[in-house]
Amino acid sequence: MKLYLVPTPIGNLDDITLRAIKVLQSVDAILAEDTRTSGVLLRHLGISKPLHSYHIFNEHQTVQRVIDQIRGGKTLALVSDAGTPGISDPGFLLVRACIAADIAVECLPGPTAFVPALVNSGLPTDRFTFEGFLPHKKGRQTRLAELADESRTMVFYESPHRLLKTLGQFAESFGPDRPASVSRELTKLFEENPRGSLSELITYFTEKTIKGELVICVQGKEQTREKKRKYSRDDDETDPTPTPLPKGGAYASE
Ligand code: SAM
Repeated sequence: MKLYLVPTPIGNLDDITLRAIKVLQSVDAILAEDTRTSGVLLRHLGISKPLHSYHIFNEHQTVQRVIDQIRGGKTLALVSDAGTPGISDPGFLLVRACIAADIAVECLPGPTAFVPALVNSGLPTDRFTFEGFLPHKKGRQTRLAELADESRTMVFYESPHRLLKTLGQFAESFGPDRPASVSRELTKLFEENPRGSLSELITYFTEKTIKGELVICVQGKEQTREKKRKYSRDDDETDPTPTPLPKGGAYASE
């Protein structure tokens, strides 16, 4: 009796892991964000299991039913339409409720869009903040204001029809010269990862019809010389032999 969270491909079906297949074959039933979408994947994998709906609109009502099923001895898997459940997808409420009910939860490692986007961006990966989707209306400006001084690389999910508006707001909040990248259609035939300043990315996407799925990465605000010195002193206190930084690389401090 257990809940598995099983990541599924974000575009390329070959990205399903061997362990994901084994777990999906072994469970009593699968909870899916969209039973039709997951049905296609399961048919492709030759897996036939009871498939139940678990999506954002029924999440609150369904949690207790799922807990009762697992307590009754069942092992279930939760999948979302793509990527890792719980990452900008339903899952968190169920995980929290299972933990509170002393039910074992295991999330398999696997596909998610923000990791390849962050690494492809060429922006610092040592510290980053995952921001997911910005609020569309209420709270959007507050969130942007909160991020104005963020020094870590910021990762955002966005839909194609909002991309230009969002890049424009980023240019206003972070400055048009801030380095950034947009990863479009990751793992798919027309994948691209254009990189440049926010204003260069705006020019690039203004000239195109924007289609597909997108992740935006924005470099954090440059730290002042004083803050950098403070951090390196803190490092000295905890680690007497800090790893040397590569000269002129993405981590170069001067
Ligand atoms: N659970 C998913 C994950 O682990 O990444 C995220 C689901 S969220 C509803 C969908 C968003 O993820 C899209 O709007 C886009 O921002 C991002 N995304 C998903 N697949 C992508 C892909 N192939 N290329 C770029 N972005 C993608």
